Amino acid sequence: METAYLNGEFLPKNEIRISPDDRGFLFADGIYEVVRWYEGFFFDMASHMMRLKRSMSEIRISWTDADTFPFVAQELITLNILQDRPALVYLQVTRGAAKRTHAFPSTEVKPTVYAFAKGFRPDSETMASGIGVILRKDIRWSRCDIKSVSLLPNVLSFQEARDLGNYECIFVRDGLITEGAHSNVFFVIKGVLYTHPESENVLSGVTRKNVLRIAREAGINVREIAVPESRITELDEAFITNTSSEVAPIVSIDNKSVGNGNPGLVTKLLQEKFVAEIRALKG
Ligand code: PLP
Repeated sequence: METAYLNGEFLPKNEIRISPDDRGFLFADGIYEVVRWYEGFFFDMASHMMRLKRSMSEIRISWTDADTFPFVAQELITLNILQDRPALVYLQVTRGAAKRTHAFPSTEVKPTVYAFAKGFRPDSETMASGIGVILRKDIRWSRCDIKSVSLLPNVLSFQEARDLGNYECIFVRDGLITEGAHSNVFFVIKGVLYTHPESENVLSGVTRKNVLRIAREAGINVREIAVPESRITELDEAFITNTSSEVAPIVSIDNKSVGNGNPGLVTKLLQEKFVAEIRALKG
């Protein structure tokens, strides 16, 4: 039986009840975080904690026990017997349940804190052979730096990608490539690695941050500059990053090959270095 976490308690997931007045349900008034369990440790929990606290502070939700999250996550892994499997822990914090009105409820209303763990099988074959993506207008709001649960534009765009047999939808805002529906995106043009700078138009991905560090350590020329859609034909390589897929090569955009249609050398190097770092952390 699956065990989940709600407001300080570990409970059978099928017994968990959340109020219909919860502002997460009524307004998508909440934020979330996802951490990856690598059979023994959570990867870069410190960065996930920083982003969690930042997201909460940007939307003015106060979960005073936020520092318990690493323990909650560890307990969910143990209670669900996921210690020896790749897993993800999902956490959501909403502004709590209150009579429906746009204004924040009184400070007495406690946030709703829900978390669960799930095992997953990394799709190593796809990650090795590469993925297809589509390019679409960024129809999201202008605070994509907040990990908000309000994901309808991401859901609709991602579904369009899936309906067209692709893995991800990459967004374009004002002619510039921002990020994916659930990932950051990187490009290699003439040996230089490009990704959109941290801004209100992209999420500061934890994987993005680590891949940039690994790339710089490897002596790769890195530029945190947005790539215009008009340069798409010049791409030698492209890849996405996120917590579950790590580094996933992009081999086609809207059915047109990127580079020679195979994962590129820089991408493969970064994939290998990322995996080596995980292996070293496993000890
Ligand atoms: N951008 C968006 C919109 C995302 O939803 C995600 C992850 O879910 C990312 C980027 C990548 O972030 P991370 O590497 O922290 O998983």
